[in-house]
Amino acid sequence: MHSPKSRPSPNCKRVMLKISGEALMGSGGFGLDPRTVSRIADEVKQVHDLGVGVCMVIGGGNIFRGNQGEALGIERLASDSMGIIATVFNALAMQSVLEERMVDTRVLSSIRMEQVCEPYIRRRALRHLEKRRICILAGGTGHPFFTTDTAAVLRAGELSCEFLYKGTDVDGVYSGDPKTDAGARRYDIVSYTEVLKKDLHVMDATAIALARDNKLPIAVFSIEKSGELAGVVEGKGTYTIIR
Ligand code: UDP
Repeated sequence: MHSPKSRPSPNCKRVMLKISGEALMGSGGFGLDPRTVSRIADEVKQVHDLGVGVCMVIGGGNIFRGNQGEALGIERLASDSMGIIATVFNALAMQSVLEERMVDTRVLSSIRMEQVCEPYIRRRALRHLEKRRICILAGGTGHPFFTTDTAAVLRAGELSCEFLYKGTDVDGVYSGDPKTDAGARRYDIVSYTEVLKKDLHVMDATAIALARDNKLPIAVFSIEKSGELAGVVEGKGTYTIIR
């Protein structure tokens, strides 16, 4: 991995963008909101246009999460597989919308779905990145019991990303839930260990621990705020750094 930058910078050679599936559903309760997907694709293109190499991991929570299975009588491994497939669905949508903007992309999946996308092969992904293609890493880690946050940290390490940008529904990491706790304080910088110790719920513990082990800095920002993704990558806007 490259030596980690301490702040977001447009001078990074390569970055990982983690966008949750929920971010793509806009104000709707399920699936894809065309205007939101279109806005996020514009912003991803802006990041790419800065000359930064772009890797993306998109979640699947707008379609299905493993923990929804139980109520439906679906066992955990099957429902995690459904969540994994949901991430491929979102990746294909983002690929198509980016290509409409003349951005060259590849979807590489951790589970084999060769008729619709390439299998994830690290060296192949690196070659795509060298050719300035955006790599959308689909299928999470390919294993149940994980999340796409962990997949984003894992692939960021494998593909030598210098920063991970995690878009959420709030503008950083707070000491409590800012939507319900008026006293919740936003951190400018917080350590991986503090996030784990205080159980700050920004990403799952596996993802944070892996980022800590690999010294991968994470910027947490609001993906709901228009223009913020590209702004934060340029070092502007509001965010929390986990490092
Ligand atoms: N999932 C999984 N393994 C992975 C990544 C995802 O089993 O490596 C499943 C899991 O069931 C999860 C669902 O896919 O609930 C959707 O992913 P995630 O919850 O990370 O999506 P997000 O919250 O980012 O939309």
